[in-house]
Amino acid sequence: MPQPRGFRFFDLPAELRADILEQLVLVPQDVPVHARAETSTESPPAALLDLFLACTQMYQEASAIFYARNRFLVNLGSRRMFSDITAEGQLFSPEGLDARRRVRALRLRLRRLSGDFEKVIAPIVSDMILCGSLRSLEIGILTQSSGLKANTSCRSSYGRGLEADSLVTTSPFQTLLRLLADPDLEEAGLWVAQIHWSVWCPFHETYDGNHSCLASLRREGIEQVSVDWEKIVRELGDVNIIARKR
Ligand SMILES: [Zn+2]
Repeated sequence: MPQPRGFRFFDLPAELRADILEQLVLVPQDVPVHARAETSTESPPAALLDLFLACTQMYQEASAIFYARNRFLVNLGSRRMFSDITAEGQLFSPEGLDARRRVRALRLRLRRLSGDFEKVIAPIVSDMILCGSLRSLEIGILTQSSGLKANTSCRSSYGRGLEADSLVTTSPFQTLLRLLADPDLEEAGLWVAQIHWSVWCPFHETYDGNHSCLASLRREGIEQVSVDWEKIVRELGDVNIIARKR
């Protein structure tokens, strides 16, 4: 009796293989990029790693779909996360270059616009756009309750001019605007959490002229609010333009 022949995946036409791999590697939610296993609650399934390690061709075909068609979430909410994500073998490390250049959609979470963001993260993201496939970038600013004046303060103490200018003329802030304004991006979005520095207020949705927007955001149950970063660029985006206006 003839032995039943094994099923050979790579005998299938490429389009069929892609259809099958899509079922395996595409996920509807963001793929969280966690550098440390102990902080990970929703790591990509181990089955995915098994699939990538099956053979070189499988890795090439499956990972091409995985990186190009999923949306990746990098949380840089604390300083430790900056060093985690750039540690050896991680997505933002030198070893991660080929993988991250294949990412098409990236969501970044930040708390502060720091020197680490400017000097470490922004050049990597820029490279992902210029030399890679990144076309969709969304940056979210997590709760900011210290540092500059938060949107919890009362109207009488509102000093937008000074605050806004002092923030937007900083180099990390200009770097943020330059990233979002990169002409090679097809989608660029910015939002701030419910509690945010009041400098964002004139530029975010639902702003009604009252800089202490916290109460109304809470009332509406809005956890994060979209910021019109293009308006910021137009009004405050370039240090030289600001200087010329004065
Ligand atoms: Zn606000």
